[in-house]
Amino acid sequence: MSQYTPVDSPDETTIFPYHDLTPPTTRDVYAARRIVSRELPRTPLVRSEPLSAELDADVYLKREDTLPTGAFKVRGGVTLVSGLDAEFREAGLVAASTGNHGQSIAYAGRAFDVPVSIVVPREANPSKVTAMERLGATVVHHGADFDEAREHAERLATEEGYRYVHSANEPPLVAGVGTAGLEIVEDLPEIDYLFCPVGGGSGASGYCLTVGALTDATVVGAQSAAAPAMHRAWAEGTLDPHDRMETFAEGVATRVPFALTTELLRDRLDEFRLVSEDAIRRGVRDVFTRETIVMEGACATSLAAMRQRPEELRGKTVVFPVSGRNIAPETFDSILERAENEDDSDR
Ligand SMILES: *Cc1c(COP(=O)(O)O)cnc(C)c1O
Repeated sequence: MSQYTPVDSPDETTIFPYHDLTPPTTRDVYAARRIVSRELPRTPLVRSEPLSAELDADVYLKREDTLPTGAFKVRGGVTLVSGLDAEFREAGLVAASTGNHGQSIAYAGRAFDVPVSIVVPREANPSKVTAMERLGATVVHHGADFDEAREHAERLATEEGYRYVHSANEPPLVAGVGTAGLEIVEDLPEIDYLFCPVGGGSGASGYCLTVGALTDATVVGAQSAAAPAMHRAWAEGTLDPHDRMETFAEGVATRVPFALTTELLRDRLDEFRLVSEDAIRRGVRDVFTRETIVMEGACATSLAAMRQRPEELRGKTVVFPVSGRNIAPETFDSILERAENEDDSDR
């Protein structure tokens, strides 16, 4: 069994000697595409009639929710696990996740026959937990939030010899999720804006390396103002943890900025906006009522960011990825219900 001990990390998270913090390049994304196109279906890029009308723009949805796990992260999972060092194939993988990273690694572990353990916070979204178990992962509940679950996963990696799959300090994950951007550029070469959510920053990094690097588009990241850790890291260049982390959108809920993605985003992300929790809820509701598409809170951050400055989008071509659909049914119900109450009080 392989045995590794943690090494010094520039951020608050634990890393091991096998973690390379060198950001991947556009070339790495092209290389990842060979794996992703073999393992996963290409996702559609579809014009949104309601949002195009609302913003007087050409708005396209990149339907990452149509991937088998219901979220974009699996692109990174299959890329990383396909290139896994032989020494870890038996010991297996461990990751911490609020859900979609875990599903991604579970899916990839099953595809490449590598055992997977996922540590989730005690209150994890139960439908995401069930999905990970269905994919054959062992799910361990630990801690009050993502960062506590993460620390437990890091301990397990040291004690059990698992390969720790970090949620952002992993070049193959970033290169893998970047393949979505290559597909967009092929389908729609003339893009003015791409809006994407930022949690740990892997998705946004992937779009910077593709849509940002290969077109003239402005790439805009969005994060909840209730959990602005990566935003502060990007703006101030600090990797210190943030004390505030209160978003309901678990896909973008982290207190701790990550070194690799912070470096890449500081280098390449054009703009980064903070949005309110109410605007996120409104986005989830509107995309459901107008498009009949279910999306999770994390992905509505980018719609909320688009709506902050609608005037700049007039007449432009705008892409926003529907990054995931794995919203807990109770959360979804409460957003629709709350909206009914809001509408009543407006009248
Ligand atoms: C993880 C996730 C995000 C945020 O992506 P990062 O790569 O962590 O920044 C956004 N939306 C969904 C649905 C996610 O699962």
